[in-house]
Amino acid sequence: MSLDFRSDTVTRPTPAMRAAIAAAEVGDDVYGDDPTVNALETRAARMLGFEAALFATSGTQTNLLGLLVNCERGDEAIVGQNWHTYKWEGGGMAVLGSIQPQPLEHAPDGSIPIATIEAAIKPDDSHFARTRLIVMENTTAGRVLSLDYLGEVRALARRRGLNTHLDGARLFNAAAAIAQQRAQARPQAQSDRQRAETAERTATPGEIQEAARDICSHFDTVSVCLSKGLGAPVGSLLLGSDAAIAKARRWRKMLGGGMRQAGIIAAGGLHALEHHVGRLLQDHTHAAHLAAGMNAIGQAFANDRGPALKAEPPQTNIVFLHIRDDLAERFPAHLNALGLQVNGSAGRYGSGLVQRWVTHLDVGEADIAQALAHIRRFFAD
Ligand SMILES: *Cc1c(COP(=O)(O)O)cnc(C)c1O
Repeated sequence: MSLDFRSDTVTRPTPAMRAAIAAAEVGDDVYGDDPTVNALETRAARMLGFEAALFATSGTQTNLLGLLVNCERGDEAIVGQNWHTYKWEGGGMAVLGSIQPQPLEHAPDGSIPIATIEAAIKPDDSHFARTRLIVMENTTAGRVLSLDYLGEVRALARRRGLNTHLDGARLFNAAAAIAQQRAQARPQAQSDRQRAETAERTATPGEIQEAARDICSHFDTVSVCLSKGLGAPVGSLLLGSDAAIAKARRWRKMLGGGMRQAGIIAAGGLHALEHHVGRLLQDHTHAAHLAAGMNAIGQAFANDRGPALKAEPPQTNIVFLHIRDDLAERFPAHLNALGLQVNGSAGRYGSGLVQRWVTHLDVGEADIAQALAHIRRFFAD
């Protein structure tokens, strides 16, 4: 039970995960003989269709490693204006890699138009940095980039001799959404009963993994967080070719990221990949219930300036809630006083006060109901 909606990073290990951690076999990963780290890396690489994987401390580090693997000093990486790799990683690619970011505006759906990307690719001329890499983020602010779009990005990269890196901190949330769409797609020839059954069908963990592989097929390197919706306490993975991962391993050591009996934490990640992929769809369902409840309350307390609250319909586990200006000070204070935690700020995610509600492993259906009751109470008082 938790009313902590700040992020899906706040999850605590489940009892089963703690048991797996306690029982983990360990070695010295810098010598390459920690069996649990090796099992995690091998399993993830196979699952996602890569030759190799590398376990690292955080998503910031695996993104940095991905950038360092694909770009040399003086190269340029094309990124989205609000992407983690550009805006939320302390300028790491410039500071530590001497890589120039070329940020571009994205469309409301989170994609960057292909023509915009292509126009930003610099000609081979000594005035310019060498454009080397296109970076994507999926999910980006909870939105899913379509496989068709990612295919177009990949085709452009191939045509122009560039590599591609995915910040897939929430790769499995994107994959779960795609797998669920596929599970609900209804072939025409079905009977009414079959249609009713498919409408209710939940995508299996295997189908989610398949969708994740499909996403990854468009990228040279992919970074995946184990400590968000997947619920592990620490760690992220970088995936790529054997050569890319060998290079990343060198950089990781140089960054001070070589960890010794790292199987202790890798065990949490391994447990998450084995047991927590399928459950991400519950987070998506919870987010949808939360948004629907917020909009019902927002409508009930509308005035001539519009609904009191307006939630954007979520595609995955993140709900953006717009709060009418006259409530922008009292509403967060009310939730705070009731012990409900949520991130939000004026201007950060757009104009006015916008809160970002994230559902995760520690938020159950009862917590969603409780959160909505707290919101309703604000208007009743
Ligand atoms: C959380 C996140 C990361 C990694 O963050 P760490 O806190 O360093 O693990 C990277 N990209 C995106 C889009 C994220 O949301």
